[in-house]
Amino acid sequence: MSEPSIPDITDPVTKEVLLKQLETQSPELAMLYKGIEKYVQEQEADVEDSLEIAYDDEIAQSYDSLVEQYNALVDEVERSEQERFKRRSEIAKLKKIIKLQKSQIEFYAQLIKELSLALGMCPQCAGRKSDCRLCYGLGSPGYMRPDLKMLQKWVRPSVEAQRKS
Ligand SMILES: [Zn+2]
Repeated sequence: MSEPSIPDITDPVTKEVLLKQLETQSPELAMLYKGIEKYVQEQEADVEDSLEIAYDDEIAQSYDSLVEQYNALVDEVERSEQERFKRRSEIAKLKKIIKLQKSQIEFYAQLIKELSLALGMCPQCAGRKSDCRLCYGLGSPGYMRPDLKMLQKWVRPSVEAQRKS
């Protein structure tokens, strides 16, 4: 006679047959076995759950950190955009001021030129500066023959107003 082989309880059919035998032979032992089996299954499920939770936490953390990095980058880009916009509008303001000053200077230069021609004086210093390169301080009104057109434009009206008063 050959020795009885050890039943393979990992096979579900064999296991069910054995369990049924055990239930008829010793119901208490069968219940105990079922209880242990249930406990082991629950423990295994718990371990799996905790592994899953740990994995999810890790992913969530790295996701959060990615979101943070992304937000920081977006902030930085926005800040430099604002900075660039600010600088551009400052430059535009300065250009406006320079343009205005340039047109004022041109206006005064033209006015001085016409008055100098009307009064026959040096347009650089009106004869007030001895180191003037144009007149050496000699160009006070009347130094040159006045320009008739400019004289009529600038001087005549005030002389006539003076006569009337
Ligand atoms: Zn001068």
